[in-house]
Amino acid sequence: MKTIADLGDLSGRRVLVRSDLNVPLDDDGTITDDGRVRASVPTIQDLAAQGARVIVCAHLGRPKGEPDEKFSLRPVARRLEDLLGRPVAFATDTVGESARAGVEALANGQVLLLENLRFNPGETGKTAADRREFAEQLATLADVFVSDGFGVVHREQASVYDIAKLLPSAAGGLVQAEVEVLSRLTEDPERPYAVVLGGAKVSDKLGVIDNLLGKADRLLIGGGMVFTFLKAQGHEVGSSLLEEDQVEVVRGYLRTAEETGVEIVLPTDIVAATEFSADAEHDVVPSDEIPADRMGLDIGPDAARLFATKLADARTVFWNGPMGAFEMEPYAAGTQAVARALVDSTANHDALTVVGGGDSAAAVRQFGHSDDEFGHISTGGGASLEFLEGATLPGLQVLQD
Ligand code: ADP
Ligand code: MG
Repeated sequence: MKTIADLGDLSGRRVLVRSDLNVPLDDDGTITDDGRVRASVPTIQDLAAQGARVIVCAHLGRPKGEPDEKFSLRPVARRLEDLLGRPVAFATDTVGESARAGVEALANGQVLLLENLRFNPGETGKTAADRREFAEQLATLADVFVSDGFGVVHREQASVYDIAKLLPSAAGGLVQAEVEVLSRLTEDPERPYAVVLGGAKVSDKLGVIDNLLGKADRLLIGGGMVFTFLKAQGHEVGSSLLEEDQVEVVRGYLRTAEETGVEIVLPTDIVAATEFSADAEHDVVPSDEIPADRMGLDIGPDAARLFATKLADARTVFWNGPMGAFEMEPYAAGTQAVARALVDSTANHDALTVVGGGDSAAAVRQFGHSDDEFGHISTGGGASLEFLEGATLPGLQVLQD
């Protein structure tokens, strides 16, 4: 994969950088978690310091291919400016008059952010033909392209994929760092290698489970997906999240794991509530005795201890998906225990601990952990999962050519 150094002297050159600035905003347009903006800063800083004329492009949310003020990147421009410690000009369109004038006005070392790429329908067009015109217009703005939005490299989109065929291109520092760490999880990881999976649905993570069953030594399962596993073992799960149509698939995983010697660790107890609410009556019950009128919303304290034990001696840990509905205080303890176990493994014996997934990353920050207590917190939920599935990611593939 080509890197920025391969692009040669960038002084005075127009560099289009695709970043991932897709941050959550509240109703007043205030950024509630600027993790992705922070992660994008070093590459932009590096290019500006080299004297490049930096044109940053990104998307925000899911506008419908036309301008929509709710999804404007303007508040992100201001945050980027604060974090960079240098001015960031803002273009009110993507490839129109404002963008062209903004690029024209850039001096060496200056930074411009374009408006939300998804205000143009060409960005997410289904076919190459649908995306071509937009990609070509983007290409006319710059001399070279740097792909740094790891969170979008699994998308075949104009600013991620097609543009890299039109301009000399390289991976930015963030994409490079993500690929390096995630490769250590797939190629010859240090053992024991433990994977913790949770989150809402097992169907979101089938590909990863499939691939990791051949690589990990232990697979710890929590979150909403655990109930499909418990059901596959023949237990009743009350009103918990259950994907009936995946029970057979999960039974297959349990068989494969047995054959290949992968240890699947399921929670021994569950926090079971009367409804999906922080105020609901809730009790700890054995995981094979969930009452018919209760739903499991977290792994129990015994399971949390068991999981911590299974992580304590691991040399490599990948964690994706919260252990419970951690957004509600009564159901946060399981997720908190797993976060703590990763932090301890990192501190105590320098295990490589990687957190993937937007909600999982939000959870560890909510518990007050800082990013550097972990080996790596991936900025790409879907992209990191697809990478671990062993899928070909179009936005990375195109940088090889
Ligand atoms: P990530 O973004 O880290 O990949 P997911 O998006 O897969 O994680 O899942 C996160 C969501 O799963 C959280 O909003 C959490 O409330 C929910 N969740 C976890 N456990 C349960 C459960 N037992 N019942 C219902 N929802 C759950
Ligand atoms: Mg999520």
